[in-house]
Amino acid sequence: MGKKSSQSKKSSNGELRSDERLYRREDIYDNETTEIISGAVDTIITKLGEDVSREGLLKTPERVAKAYQFLTHGYQLDPDRILKSALFEEDYSEMILVKDIEVYSLCEHHMLPFFGKAHVAYIPNGKIVGLSKIPRIVDVFARRLQVQERLTLQVRDAVDRVLNPLGTAVVIEASHLCMMMRGAEKQNSVTTTSAMSGEFHREATRLEFMRLVGA
Ligand SMILES: [Zn+2]
Repeated sequence: MGKKSSQSKKSSNGELRSDERLYRREDIYDNETTEIISGAVDTIITKLGEDVSREGLLKTPERVAKAYQFLTHGYQLDPDRILKSALFEEDYSEMILVKDIEVYSLCEHHMLPFFGKAHVAYIPNGKIVGLSKIPRIVDVFARRLQVQERLTLQVRDAVDRVLNPLGTAVVIEASHLCMMMRGAEKQNSVTTTSAMSGEFHREATRLEFMRLVGA
């Protein structure tokens, strides 16, 4: 517990502050990109039989262009840098679990949302990461065009790569609007994906993790 203070001391240094700027959840729009996507959205709306010049739709192409840039801003972020910005030496070697992380992503097949919760656990091997970085890593990969399976693996692999822990486990439970809105079947189904490494391949460890996340 005494290590907590060293965390806050480190996170107030100048280098981290410049990192923080990169990771802030701000809307970063590029003018040229906005213009090009707006033009494409204008075409889509017109082709669907709507009148883009009516009042309610006038600013829609630009809004959509900005929304998509925000919803895919994970491409601009470097997950390894985010994790490395808050690494601390620590002897703790029990499971660390961050539960119920909100996930909002876009399926790459339909560009429709899928959303739900992620649970991320790891067993440290001399290094721990600031807890707030775990939801951020989920967001870095979720804010891209995705499939849930790859998202799950990417989160696990990033933790494995940077922290080199004794094991990592990721479970994501999500509802997919492309299934719910389009198909007649499985309207309320939740898709669960998981990815484990190291110690989590041991049954006792995996079962403890599953019991803790209630999955
Ligand atoms: Zn889809």
